[in-house]
Amino acid sequence: MTVSVTGATGFIGTRLVQRLHADNHKVCVLTRSKSKAETIFPVKNFPGIVIAEEAGWKDCIEGSNAVVNLAGMPISTRWSPEIKKEIKESRIRVTSKVVDLINSSPQGVRPTVLVSATAVGYYGTSETRVFDENSPSGNDYLAEVCREWEGTALKVDKDVRLALIRIGVVLGKDGGALAKMIPLFMMFAGGPLGSGQQWFSWIHLDDIVNLIYEALSNPSYKGVINGTAPNPVRLSEMCNQLGNVLGRPSWLPVPDFALKAVLGEGSGGTKSGSCKS
Ligand code: NDP
Repeated sequence: MTVSVTGATGFIGTRLVQRLHADNHKVCVLTRSKSKAETIFPVKNFPGIVIAEEAGWKDCIEGSNAVVNLAGMPISTRWSPEIKKEIKESRIRVTSKVVDLINSSPQGVRPTVLVSATAVGYYGTSETRVFDENSPSGNDYLAEVCREWEGTALKVDKDVRLALIRIGVVLGKDGGALAKMIPLFMMFAGGPLGSGQQWFSWIHLDDIVNLIYEALSNPSYKGVINGTAPNPVRLSEMCNQLGNVLGRPSWLPVPDFALKAVLGEGSGGTKSGSCKS
């Protein structure tokens, strides 16, 4: 199959592209920066891969069986009003472009599947409630971002199968949340951040890649799917485990500002249900 991927140069996208390429699928990397993508996917290791900046996205999408949409400005940064605007607008801009290109592709060559990322931030945060795919949206900023992001993806034509993956905090080596948390622990500054009672709905990098991969070809993957491990943990438990593995104390309380610096201001915690099995 031929798969076009936005956000392919990111934490999840890089692993997904590696996996698709290893399984002999044809991959089009849809990026803002060809030179950056060529560094991540050098032609000697990724023969046959197509790398396209925006002007080339149309041809890629028209020739693809499926599109995976992962692009967006990183959320785990300090939030100024300008950054908050770009966090939302970057997702809506790219999703809107992808949807327009799919909808305007001629019948017969258009992709039949769109797998589009969103986040468990859709549900808002709670220390007591459990959220599944049917739960209503929350009323904070991240929930608003996710609603509008999903709403844009939902504009894809109805004959295109849409899987909206509400992703939890992705854990894997060399990137994502762990890459920000581990240095704090190594400096003996890790521990139950804030109250420690926040829910940490996590998923391993390989599992989110497997989920997206399966969603590309399995027709039962349709609509909203929580991309989280079956058992979320309290943040204090996550920190205990991390401290044990790294041989560092995890009892030192870390103030809220440090949590926000690591996980962004949407670090309140969401307990969301298991991923589809
Ligand atoms: P990354 O931040 O690692 O990568 C996102 C990609 O989006 C980048 O490689 C970049 O691709 C593109 N991008 C970055 N900034 C912008 C911008 N301003 N405008 C347009 N495109 C931009 O993301 P992840 O791989 O971690 O996550 C993929 C998606 O899943 C994201 O949308 C994220 O919100 C969502 N998600 C991730 C979670 C996680 O824990 N990782 C948790 C919940 C949701 P390029 O430069 O090639 O254009």
